[in-house]
Amino acid sequence: MSDQEQPYGLNDRCETCGEWIYSKHHRCPPRWEVRAEDETEWRVVWAQTAEEAAEKFTEEYENNYADYSIAGGRSRLNVLVLDSSKPPATPIKFKVTGETLPHYTAEVVEIT
Ligand SMILES: [Zn+2]
Repeated sequence: MSDQEQPYGLNDRCETCGEWIYSKHHRCPPRWEVRAEDETEWRVVWAQTAEEAAEKFTEEYENNYADYSIAGGRSRLNVLVLDSSKPPATPIKFKVTGETLPHYTAEVVEIT
């Protein structure tokens, strides 16, 4: 970016954590390493809490697999979350579940 004072415009995403930036005082949330229990690859997730890191990971996980069985409430995912800023870190295991909220849409059909 060329503007040193304000490297990001409003409504840009942070290049590090991916969050939407609403002010020039943006600070990235804490960094976590997260993986699905039955996989070996850790991924970096930026989140305020370990729980949020597990949830964000699961959201991306379902996007990647285009499955949405967790969001649909049909399955769950065991996720390991590691706070790599405090070694020696021990992973915390979470069970992540989801739910689909009903959504209704009204369209005008006829004005009587
Ligand atoms: Zn950030």
